[in-house]
Amino acid sequence: MPCAAYLDWNATAPLRPEAAAAMSDALARCGNPSSVHRFGREARRALEAARAQVAALVGVAPAEVVFTSGGTEANQLALRGLGDRRVLVSAIEHDSVHQAVPDAATIPVTPRGVVDLDALDRLLAAEARPALVSLMLANNETGIIQPVAEAARLAHARSALFHCDAVQAAGKLPVDRAALGADLITLSAHKLGGPQGVGALVVSPALHLTALQTGGGQERGRRAGTENLPGIIGFGTAAAVAGGRLGDYAAVALLRDEAERRLKTIAPEAPVYGDDVPRLPNTLCLGMPGVAASTQVMALDLAGVMVSAGAACSSGKLRRSLVLEAMGVPAAEAESAIRISLGWSTVPADIDQLVEAWGVLYARTRAHAA
Ligand code: PLP
Repeated sequence: MPCAAYLDWNATAPLRPEAAAAMSDALARCGNPSSVHRFGREARRALEAARAQVAALVGVAPAEVVFTSGGTEANQLALRGLGDRRVLVSAIEHDSVHQAVPDAATIPVTPRGVVDLDALDRLLAAEARPALVSLMLANNETGIIQPVAEAARLAHARSALFHCDAVQAAGKLPVDRAALGADLITLSAHKLGGPQGVGALVVSPALHLTALQTGGGQERGRRAGTENLPGIIGFGTAAAVAGGRLGDYAAVALLRDEAERRLKTIAPEAPVYGDDVPRLPNTLCLGMPGVAASTQVMALDLAGVMVSAGAACSSGKLRRSLVLEAMGVPAAEAESAIRISLGWSTVPADIDQLVEAWGVLYARTRAHAA
């Protein structure tokens, strides 16, 4: 078996050891945060401590944090929990945004992958109903960072609310609610070193959110159901560690840039999506012209290197990338795009392994073509 080089951090990051330790401690305890006895009160204290840690990551008050089962649920709650509004979403949002409101208006992006702010303003101006705009902070496939603060200003100037899916950005970039100007922010634990299946929606105190999941009055009536306390404690711990270690991403960016430089040396014609606009420090979306993404993903996997196709979907199947399509990338080209994503424990040897395996495949496909 070759060594494993895990380069799929945008799909999920490894659990941070601090989060694992806090979760294992929590799993050994008993107590429902809604119970009034001592064990219940201890559980409540732990829940609220984790809420404060998550709130601190994005600069909000703890009461604004609603825990959910992940980013997907938080996006659904944001887009469906605010009553009858016209929803406008960017063309490059995650499926959990697109599918929350299938009849939402689409805000286009430019060929460089950045939302078209003029188009957003035109859409808002034409809208008679109160609107809700949803724009992600960083794209999961390309890493391209969106002008969220400007978009939020435009939305507010037209009396619309603004939601930001910050799932991919949180823990990699500073995310500050006031600086972004967002009324709602989506977070997911497993992208920043917490466990899978936990997330949060940050909701401005001025907003009344209607729960989608009803039952008990947990989360101040905004999300019913006994809280996933070990998961939430892992999330809080990971958020605290991630917030204190944003500086690690300077080294991650150097490794990403090194990977990009070496892959482009092998294949100068390989397109890199998002290389001329601000991008997440850990993400590299590039194509091997004429070679399907699935072929690349499988060849790399055989060599111990784990990456995703540009448009891997949750069922593990490959499908066309709506993100690259929205950028105007021709379908045949988009089909050869893979996403390489690094993280805090990526080492130069992982990049060597990637470059070696990708180079071997490239040489083989070129030899066949000759
Ligand atoms: N939003 C973005 C941008 C994502 O990349 C993802 C996951 O890939 C999600 C939302 C969904 O988060 P979760 O996996 O916690 O449901």
